[in-house]
Amino acid sequence: MRQSPMLEVRELTKSFATGGGWSRKHKPVLYGVSFSVARGEVLALVGESGSGKSTVARIISLVEPSEGGEVMMDGRDLLQAATVQERRAARAQVQMIFQDPFGSLNPAHRVGYPIARSLLLHGRAKRGEVRARVAALLEEVGLAPGAQVAEKFPHELSGGERQRVAIARALAVEPQLLLADEPTSMLDVATRQGVLELLGRLRRERGRGVLLITHDLTAARALADRIAVLYAGHIVETGPADEVLRHPRHPYTQSLLAALPHGDGRFLSTPAAAGGGRPPAVTGCPFAPRCPHAVAACAQAPETALIGLGHRVACHLVTSPPTSTEP
Ligand code: SF4
Repeated sequence: MRQSPMLEVRELTKSFATGGGWSRKHKPVLYGVSFSVARGEVLALVGESGSGKSTVARIISLVEPSEGGEVMMDGRDLLQAATVQERRAARAQVQMIFQDPFGSLNPAHRVGYPIARSLLLHGRAKRGEVRARVAALLEEVGLAPGAQVAEKFPHELSGGERQRVAIARALAVEPQLLLADEPTSMLDVATRQGVLELLGRLRRERGRGVLLITHDLTAARALADRIAVLYAGHIVETGPADEVLRHPRHPYTQSLLAALPHGDGRFLSTPAAAGGGRPPAVTGCPFAPRCPHAVAACAQAPETALIGLGHRVACHLVTSPPTSTEP
């Protein structure tokens, strides 16, 4: 049975300004995004480029302000952290693992440095203990002997090893949630599997939640307990990973799976099979311009309905299907 949520994201909204002067407009990018992650659970937030998933990550990790909504962690809204101390404490609960293992480490510093800095900054080790803690953290992520690896520079490590260093740095703060934003997208296939296995082990052994933000359905399939599908700033389908991947009910999720090429398991950012390239609708169902099943009712935004155990879908055809257009 699923544990009670550790992280609850409620009704996040965000827009970005476009243009300037008289033509300045605000373009919404998140429309009330809500999901949760339980302790020891991996939730994959899946969507194509431009869906808003990285904006969600930046808001949760307090890199970017939201316009509305809440990010509740163990009953406290992280977005309400106002003082430097409160924001540091909030950031310590959620640690981000970035997409680019090459850019996330300073080439001028030995790899032990950022880990030691995190330990000291967040009071997780005393000065005399730091070296041993750094070595232990590096070994925990599979980089042994830790004391020797800590003395290397980033350019002496492979992409996968650098991503492991980034994970060790995140673990140094003892976060409750690891927020992994496309953590394997810049790695080769063999290295990718190792990093995913490491994240899976960390949540099992440490009971941490993992929010995996990805456009890679293969990564979601390999690691996630549940999947939330984001399209143009709207969550359109959520549910147990196996159920969503085997029996996708939203036409967008179906199109993502249909567009999944054989081989490396990625789908294109705008799958041609689903009318890729057409912008989302501003009113009604956002997927309507690309949806092969659109009906007149789709001019109204669909409600999200529970259609199975933990399986929710926002689509008129699923909640009140016309017999002739059942997907
Ligand atoms: Fe397609 Fe209509 Fe469902 Fe939107 S609500 S996904 S347009 S069928």
